[in-house]
Amino acid sequence: MLRQYELVDQVLNYDPNADEDLLNRAYIYTTKMHGGQKRASGDPYYSHPIEVAGILTGLRLDTATIITALLHDTIEDTDATYDDIRDMFGAEVAGLVDGVTKLGQFDLTSEETQQAENFRRLLIATSSDIRVLLVKLADRLHNMRTLHFIKLPEKRRRIAQETMDIFAPLAGRMGMQEFREELEDIAYKELNPEAYKTVLERLERTLAGSDKIIQDIEEGLRVRFAEHKLEAEVTSRGKRAYSVWRKMERKSISMEQLSDIIGFRIVVPEIEDCYRALGIAHTTWKMVPGRYKDYISTPRANGYQSLHTTVVGPENKRVELQIRTRKMHEVAEYGIAAHWFYKEKTETKNGEVKSPLPTGSSDAFNWLRQLVTMLEQGESAEEFLEHTKLELFNDQVFCFTPNGRLIALPSGATSLDFAYAVHTDIGSSCTMCRINGRHMPLRTQLANGDEVEIICSEDQTPLPAWEKMVVTGKARAAIRRAVRQRRKEEYVRLGRRIVESTFEQANLTLDDEILERTLVPLQRSSVEHLLMGIGYGEVTGEKVLDIAYPEEEREARRPRRLWRRRKPTRRNRQPVLINGIEPGLAVHFAEGSFLVPGDKIVGIVTPGRGLTVYPVDSSDLRVFDGDPERWIDISWNMFRSDDVLFTARLDLVIANEVGVLGAISTLIADYGGNISNLALTRRDNDFYGMVIDIDVKDVGHLNRIMSALKGLSKVNTVRRVQD
Ligand code: MN
Repeated sequence: MLRQYELVDQVLNYDPNADEDLLNRAYIYTTKMHGGQKRASGDPYYSHPIEVAGILTGLRLDTATIITALLHDTIEDTDATYDDIRDMFGAEVAGLVDGVTKLGQFDLTSEETQQAENFRRLLIATSSDIRVLLVKLADRLHNMRTLHFIKLPEKRRRIAQETMDIFAPLAGRMGMQEFREELEDIAYKELNPEAYKTVLERLERTLAGSDKIIQDIEEGLRVRFAEHKLEAEVTSRGKRAYSVWRKMERKSISMEQLSDIIGFRIVVPEIEDCYRALGIAHTTWKMVPGRYKDYISTPRANGYQSLHTTVVGPENKRVELQIRTRKMHEVAEYGIAAHWFYKEKTETKNGEVKSPLPTGSSDAFNWLRQLVTMLEQGESAEEFLEHTKLELFNDQVFCFTPNGRLIALPSGATSLDFAYAVHTDIGSSCTMCRINGRHMPLRTQLANGDEVEIICSEDQTPLPAWEKMVVTGKARAAIRRAVRQRRKEEYVRLGRRIVESTFEQANLTLDDEILERTLVPLQRSSVEHLLMGIGYGEVTGEKVLDIAYPEEEREARRPRRLWRRRKPTRRNRQPVLINGIEPGLAVHFAEGSFLVPGDKIVGIVTPGRGLTVYPVDSSDLRVFDGDPERWIDISWNMFRSDDVLFTARLDLVIANEVGVLGAISTLIADYGGNISNLALTRRDNDFYGMVIDIDVKDVGHLNRIMSALKGLSKVNTVRRVQD
């Protein structure tokens, strides 16, 4: 148990102006009032409020909150009254203690209505002063730490279940990850002792064999950062059993990857340094595609900011890195409480101090406020509980159709998932959506309570890229089915264009009857089957021509002056226009190319693959100069929804100065681009060379970003890399 002077010292450490005298009095008061009361552990009862206060000094909370923690059980469990507390410790503390007391006990086994009422009380109390909730969470944390002392198994289970259902998600929603993880872990251990043991043992075994590699990775990063004169603190941290288990369950993965059980954290002084550290990490080791996330430009709803990436480290081990500044780190660990620490006290017009809420940046608190508004709009307690509990479950979102139908989706679901959830036909024909009245892309992740209106068009068909935009199985299966069908149609279409063009050049007309004559010799079951084979590159147009019109017959039909069959050359060929380039169907991008809609392109028929798209001035095209019949002129279908993003690669030379990388990342995010990779390629004293991959809608979008980048004074050159 914390001694009196230890507790006071801890507070003075971060708040030298704390009211030392009042803290001392509260400490003595709680010891006196709880007197001979005992905890289940056999410890004196007052050790509990003192430990709760200790937990809160870890969040560096103000004196009133620490004192509230010390007194939080006095009104309920001792002879002390509200008036006593107010007289001795002032109205602020009395109000807070009263708030905590009023929360009472949650009882999940009680009637639904009672449970709802408890919830309502919790939220009303916390909405007036968030510190009440912080004390309540610390109270719960200490009770969980001492849970094993409780003798009755049913009671332990009930408390653990309540923690899992309500307090852990609440802590998570407030951005307090440390709290959340510890609460979950203890609750999980109680609720699922066997599973917990298994996961823990496996974790320990995997970690035990990885000591050296973990050190190597940490050391490797430190050395590289030092070389670049980047000040950075590198630490690693094993994940908790519960979060590993949940991930295994959610993604049905095993624990083989190091990245599944251990995370590396890089803490740097400035935002700019985050991007530099990222660039260095990506240059040292290969990045795992699709794992880079920039939560600095676009923070999470609970205020969390960091760069995330996964790289392939030494011994081919995948390593997860989180890069953040000191302040971001504190927000990540302590959530709303950290905002608290950074806030300034603001006064309202009439001079009174505003209710001490974290200001500005915290969306976590907005969420709470919204809930309370909902409460005040007089919904019934049950209805309210429905909403609130659902809100707390981070793994689900609940949205509405314009006429009020509730659609439940897993968290992370997009408007496209929503459309498919309403009806498969709606999903496959949707072109755009409105979320709460605003036009948004189909890939937008939905939040609880969103009203989603889907706009459909008969001309729409599911695109291959949609598969990456959904999380629900239903949507994914429907998209795959539709894409398979369309791919077939595309091959048929492409095959028809190819064979038509071959016939045109021979001055011959083509119809299905002629094609039917070639089916038997070409071993095809139908015209469609034949055309697919041509589109697929298994049968050439020339071959069809040769069978339909043997050379002699063709000579006879040919106008005189073309007495000899000429091999077609690129120059005199009729262009075959394929409208609607959608990679993933019959069409693929050449490997290593970075093409976006609007780029000048050309297609090469590739046997067994369909059409491969190259940038028109790609040097790789020289190889095909001798095969003019393989060249196909193609163009993009530019009027599709802007939901599918294409990756463009830029090569930049930037000044080696503070703030450039941060400015670049922010600018790209501001223009709606998404950075999917970033690596430093070379560096000298004055300049950095670097490569950035950006997901954009089309060439117009890319050009806007490039012009904006060129406008940054510290950016020297910006160059497109197409292949
Ligand atoms: Mn308590």
